[in-house]
Amino acid sequence: MNKALVLFSGGQDSTVCLAWALQKFDAVETAGFDYGQRHAAELTARPRILAQLRSGFPQMAKKLGADHLLPIDTLKAIGGSALTDQVAIAMGANGLPTSFVPGRNILFLTLAAALGYRRGIADLVGGMCETDFSGYPDCRNDTVQSTAKALSLGLAQEIRIHTPLMWIDKAQTWQLARALGGESLVALIVEETVTCYQGDHTNRHDWGYGCGQCPACELRAAGYAKFKSAGA
Ligand code: ZN
Repeated sequence: MNKALVLFSGGQDSTVCLAWALQKFDAVETAGFDYGQRHAAELTARPRILAQLRSGFPQMAKKLGADHLLPIDTLKAIGGSALTDQVAIAMGANGLPTSFVPGRNILFLTLAAALGYRRGIADLVGGMCETDFSGYPDCRNDTVQSTAKALSLGLAQEIRIHTPLMWIDKAQTWQLARALGGESLVALIVEETVTCYQGDHTNRHDWGYGCGQCPACELRAAGYAKFKSAGA
């Protein structure tokens, strides 16, 4: 059986990746990471999104398997990032936003591959994207595919990392959602996924909940506006 493990945070991108994997693979499991993120609202969104996929999308539901939430204290213990500490989101002296968590995606992919090893899954799916990203070096295709190579060597089996969003922008991510699950999937993503770095779930916009001011909200809002203006 053709199985995949999706890195599923509860955000917009990883939800679209999950829908993508549910179309492409025969069986799909999900993994999330509790790393002390300030936007912990993502973690409470995960079970809601999974429950709605199970109840509202029968074609997806029959392929959707176990969900795994893995705790990682280490990133918060290291600290220094706006995603784990009370640090303002701004451009750092190194040219990267303070929301950068060094090594995060490499760590997540490594842990996902380790989990997949135990679950008999060698195909990982992640929402990394280098099209309109914040300059995070661990979102780059070279980083992701080099990690796949290192994992394949280290586990002595081929690990494939699929990144369906790598070369598309945020408007195209909304389009992909609609192609995969129609307007009802778009509506689910608007209503339930959390993108905001502050984890704001009180301010509702046409693109969903969020503070509306952090870089993640700005990207999501701009992408949604472009998607809508393209004749949605
Ligand atoms: Zn925000």
